[in-house]
Amino acid sequence: MIMAVEASIVSRARERAMDTSECVGCKLVMPAHPGPTHRYIRCSPECWSLFGEVLAREFQNQRLFRAVHQVTVDTYAVQHAVDHPAKSLTCHLVSLFAILGRSQMQDEDADTLVRFVQGRAKFPRLEAPADMGPMTIFDVAIAGESDHEVVVRRWARHVWDAWAPEHHTSASVAREALR
Ligand SMILES: [Zn+2]
Repeated sequence: MIMAVEASIVSRARERAMDTSECVGCKLVMPAHPGPTHRYIRCSPECWSLFGEVLAREFQNQRLFRAVHQVTVDTYAVQHAVDHPAKSLTCHLVSLFAILGRSQMQDEDADTLVRFVQGRAKFPRLEAPADMGPMTIFDVAIAGESDHEVVVRRWARHVWDAWAPEHHTSASVAREALR
C-alpha cells in the first residue's frame, strides 16, 4: 500500500516535472503553456507571453512607456542571447550601455549610437554570460504598476552586470560612434 502511494506520488511529481518549461534564455521555469514565440529571440512561449503582458502595461501607461520601455526591450533582448543575431544583440547591448553604463553621454548621443550600430556592416562577437542574473521578466510581470519602473530598472541592472565581460566592447563601439 505504502509502495503504491509512493509510486503515485512519484508519478505525479514526474507529471508535474513534465508540465513545466524552462526558458533557454533567462532560465525562467513556468508551468508549460504552449504558445507563440519570437521569430529569432529564443525563449519559451511562457516567457514570451509574460513579456507581452509587460509591454501591454507599458503601452497602456504613457508615464511607464516614457520611463522604461526602451530599458525593458533592451534588457529582455540581451537576456535572451542564445543564437541571437549579432546585429540585434549589439544594438540592444549598446542601447543598454547608453542608458545604464554611459558616463558623460547626452540623450542625443544615445540616438547617434544606436543609429551607428544599426548602420554597421560588421558586429563584434559578443560572448554571452552563462548566468544572466537572478531576475527575469516574471519579476516585472508580477510587479504592480506602481512598482513597475523600479523593478524594470533593478532587473536591467542585474542583466547589465551579468554582461560585465562585454562592457568594454559596448564602450568601444560607443567611442567609435561618437568620435
Ligand atoms: Zn526567458
